[in-house]
Amino acid sequence: MSNIHDIVIIGAGSVGTPAAFYLAESGFKVAVIEKYASPGQGQNKSAIGGIRATHSDAAKIWLCQDSLKAFSTWKEKYGDDIGWIQGGYTFPAYSEETEKMLKDLLIVQKKYGLNINWISKEEIKEIVPGIYEKELRGGTFSPEDGNASPLSSINAFYFRAKEKGADFYFNEKVINITVNNGKIENIRTNKNIFSSKWVINTAGAEAGEIGKMINLNIPIMPDSHEACITEPIARLFYPLVVDLRKRPGSKNFYFYQNAENQLVICLTPEPIIPGTDRRSTSKFLLQVSRRMIETIPRLANLKIRRIWRGLYPMTPDGFPIISTVKNIEGLILAVGMCGQGFMLGPGTGMLITRLISEKLNKKDNFILNSLSLYRSFSGMEAFK
Ligand SMILES: Cc1cc2nc3c(=O)[nH]c(=O)nc-3n(C[C@H](O)[C@H](O)[C@H](O)COP(=O)(O)OP(=O)(O)OC[C@H]3O[C@@H](n4cnc5c(N)ncnc54)[C@H](O)[C@@H]3O)c2cc1C
Repeated sequence: MSNIHDIVIIGAGSVGTPAAFYLAESGFKVAVIEKYASPGQGQNKSAIGGIRATHSDAAKIWLCQDSLKAFSTWKEKYGDDIGWIQGGYTFPAYSEETEKMLKDLLIVQKKYGLNINWISKEEIKEIVPGIYEKELRGGTFSPEDGNASPLSSINAFYFRAKEKGADFYFNEKVINITVNNGKIENIRTNKNIFSSKWVINTAGAEAGEIGKMINLNIPIMPDSHEACITEPIARLFYPLVVDLRKRPGSKNFYFYQNAENQLVICLTPEPIIPGTDRRSTSKFLLQVSRRMIETIPRLANLKIRRIWRGLYPMTPDGFPIISTVKNIEGLILAVGMCGQGFMLGPGTGMLITRLISEKLNKKDNFILNSLSLYRSFSGMEAFK
């Protein structure tokens, strides 16, 4: 059986599902192929739900500004509750070095018009009651950032994409792609053969495997990260807190209280854990509990309900790849989202829609240039 669409999207994840929604909304006939039984079963379900535009480079700032608009207005526009809370992000500083780094970053962030400021120790204590205060020097606060449920969000994008006419093919794995005369001739799954003018690779941690099918090197090297969720408690604070202090086995630590009043907590392991293993480690629970008690001592008796481990689809410089491909007409890559694919998803979907609709603006061209597959990969993102 051969399925003809305008666009085939490989992967119903954090990027592929919103892309399907925005493309179908613009009138394109879209097919989404997903190897799992439902959307979001790759890394989307591992994300803890943080969404911020306060990055350090223009491309991610602009993409996430669009994403923030989508997440923050979704309920009003479409009626679905995605657990959106505009609680902001705060980066408390516990050393002179961190304070300087954050204040230097503020200059760049303000240049792009982001609403982010340095606030005093007293103000941090007000927005995060009970935070460890001994060496606390103040920190940054960006009130327009927020958080939402990755599971509710992907379902909202999925059901609305279907309403707009997108076709989803679950339990289908892309196993081969044929290129002829610089054009993708067909995409073969274990069940079907698809053909389309455009093919979008949003296969996350497996995007490199899709590349191999067409002899294209896409530099994605997954590494794994763990997270946990606690029982609900009375609302204690609203912002997502990023503690940049290093501790044995972790580079930093971040957490927030979600719409159900549970704490969702994550840390960045050090050294990194390369590979695709998604089984929880024996160390994480101890590491995360120690850090939580150190940062907000009054949470010592809080119970952790569940832990999980997922993958960051990493690139060599920590920035995503959103790119067309030389010599393969109609192929678009939206991959390498690192630790930020949930927050980059809607903005990326909108950008791809403008690319395919030939409605790119100046900012879009800048983004596509800086996130191109053909960049040097010599820079390094500070917070991947
Ligand atoms: C612990 C943890 C916490 C995180 N927290 C955040 C956060 O707070 N905010 C944030 O923005 N990001 C966060 N992330 C990162 C985020 O989860 C990822 O960046 C994002 O999910 C990647 O999106 P994606 O669409 O590229 O990949 P995915 O969501 O994994 O989607 C790719 C899809 O492609 C499918 N696929 C792959 N190969 C094939 C094939 N051959 N055929 C068919 N289908 C295929 C997969 O099954 C999958 O469903 C976190 C990640 C982890 C692990």
